Amino acid sequence: MFMPVGTLGSVKGVSQDVLEELGVEILLSNTYHLFLRPGVETVRRMGGLHRFMSWDRAILTDSGGFQVFSLNELRKVTEDGVAFRSHLDGSPHFLSPEKAMEVQIGLGADIIMAFDECTEYPADAQRGRDSMELTLRWAARCKNYFEEHKGEVPWGHTEVVELRSAGRPRAAVPTRSEATQALFGIVQGGMDAVLRRESALRTVDIGFPGYAIGGLSVGEPRELTRDIVFSTLEHLPSDRARYLMGVGTPEEIAQYARAGVDMMDCVLPTRAARHGLLFTSEGKVSIKQARYAQDESALDPACECRVCLRYSRAYLRHLYASNELLAQVLNTVHNLHFYLASMRAVRAWIRAGDAAG
Ligand SMILES: [Zn+2]
Repeated sequence: MFMPVGTLGSVKGVSQDVLEELGVEILLSNTYHLFLRPGVETVRRMGGLHRFMSWDRAILTDSGGFQVFSLNELRKVTEDGVAFRSHLDGSPHFLSPEKAMEVQIGLGADIIMAFDECTEYPADAQRGRDSMELTLRWAARCKNYFEEHKGEVPWGHTEVVELRSAGRPRAAVPTRSEATQALFGIVQGGMDAVLRRESALRTVDIGFPGYAIGGLSVGEPRELTRDIVFSTLEHLPSDRARYLMGVGTPEEIAQYARAGVDMMDCVLPTRAARHGLLFTSEGKVSIKQARYAQDESALDPACECRVCLRYSRAYLRHLYASNELLAQVLNTVHNLHFYLASMRAVRAWIRAGDAAG
């Protein structure tokens, strides 16, 4: 599955009914951003992220680790957690494994992620090991906290019960939810295949229903990303969900899915769309180019999305050149459709392989 990124509880420019029409089954939202704005208590009081954003399909939240490391130059990492300042107003905050679990339980996504340290690139051997060990200790702390608090999800209903002995006729008593979230572990280990293997095996020892490959797309060459994905994947159990975080182009996600990756997310289709870069069956199209100014053809003649069925390249180019809001909306809808269609093709390919034995 491919998960569109809805950083602030919104896939930028695309409303939830259109996401449903596109066939989005699960989207990703960012703990770091929601933690700062509107804040976890607001979302919790609104009944959790699903109800807050009116989305009854699945949601995954990341742990906030990646954003803390990528958006904050002044962060301070200790054994306990990470102190950082908000990129919005400079206010001080602290995220620890326990706090990241508390926040994600409060947001109430279906799948939540362990709080990890994203090792920077490049990193020397000692730094790579120390960072991996820290992530493993944090993974165990995440699991411990989660096991103790997993019933505290915002959809746990409040029951009105009789309290005869207290002399009060009725009182609201919060009940613990039977349905809980799934907490996934994250493999780190930098760009070292030996550390990756160790991180994978030891994360599996801690035991999670799914495992993510994190710490990639941090500035390393694409071939190295590929090598690390493949060398990590083989050490993760194939009967558990295997999630590759933050990767990649349409070709890459198809390649990784065929290799056994079950879940991926990437800002590329949505972010590129807002910059006029569109993925099509004929390759990339930069819609801002003057050559499309009088092009009557569909953006992608092979695409069946609502944009390609209705509008010409000339119109899309005009919207973009005129800085119309609709340009970002239509471009995003097409790119998401293209990614999701790529994944549907991979699923058909997998089913055909299964059928062929
Ligand atoms: Zn299209």
